[in-house]
Amino acid sequence: MALDQVLDDLQREAGIARLGEVRAVGGGSINRAFRVESGAGPVFVKVNTRQSADMFAAEAAGLEAIREARAVATPVVVALGETGEHAWLALEWIDFVANAQPAAERLGRELAAMHAVTGEHFGWHRDNTIGSTPQPNTPTEEWIDFWRDHRLGHQLELAVRRGLPGDSERRLTALLGGLDQYFDGYRPESSLLHGDLWGGNWGATRDGIPYIYDPAVYFGDREADLAMTRLFGGFGEKFYEAYQAVWPLAPGWERRVALYNLYHLVNHFNLFGTGYLGRIEDVLRELGR
Ligand code: ADP
Repeated sequence: MALDQVLDDLQREAGIARLGEVRAVGGGSINRAFRVESGAGPVFVKVNTRQSADMFAAEAAGLEAIREARAVATPVVVALGETGEHAWLALEWIDFVANAQPAAERLGRELAAMHAVTGEHFGWHRDNTIGSTPQPNTPTEEWIDFWRDHRLGHQLELAVRRGLPGDSERRLTALLGGLDQYFDGYRPESSLLHGDLWGGNWGATRDGIPYIYDPAVYFGDREADLAMTRLFGGFGEKFYEAYQAVWPLAPGWERRVALYNLYHLVNHFNLFGTGYLGRIEDVLRELGR
């Protein structure tokens, strides 16, 4: 890959002069990533094809929105650009420790503070991606409408094109027609969300500062962020206790966890295929469909 050209552009755009080695970093699911030594300290650089330029622009905007909320730490955006066949995003390098658990309690507190930042509508001022799937953020007055049309319904449409079995399609469509029943007496606030908060998208430094990264930001029900923390685990009881101590959840949240995670499960079907069908069916059953 023409990484050298990318690094030349990084120098031109951000004055980041490469010093010494460039090391590949693993762990990402979508992009290739590198640690670049520079005169201004190490930099984290994600690289993908040129078609990903808008995805990186949306990620950078999301990181900046999280930063502006001043509640949870997130890497500073150094620069982004397009070079030849590639698009790239350069971030402040954070030295993550192997075990982030000691910082989970602080993350719980800080995430609740971030969720206290609210928008005028559900959605966001721009679309972004969830994994590599387009995520529409059309500003919407009612949360249930937003979740039906721009979240679950959108993924369902993609899934049907990717061969979702007819039975699952029918059950999901029925679910979409009766979302009100899960929101009896509950009107969520339009909280600033990370949007893709699974265990692989947070880490902590040696001095116990939690960071969140790789977001899919929008304004939505904070329960959607919390539900995703439970999808693959990795946050721990202290995280939830600390969150609840700052801003307790409304009654009925347990029932909505499945509803919110269904979005990510159908997205996983769209990205990775039929391996996720079993879990989609289990969740539909849990939701009474
Ligand atoms: P992808 O978009 O490909 O999923 P991520 O943004 O999740 O990539 O990053 C991949 C991995 O790189 C993460 O799991 C994390 O361990 C590490 N990482 C992410 N951001 C930084 C950073 N700013 N500094 C150091 N390491 C990082």
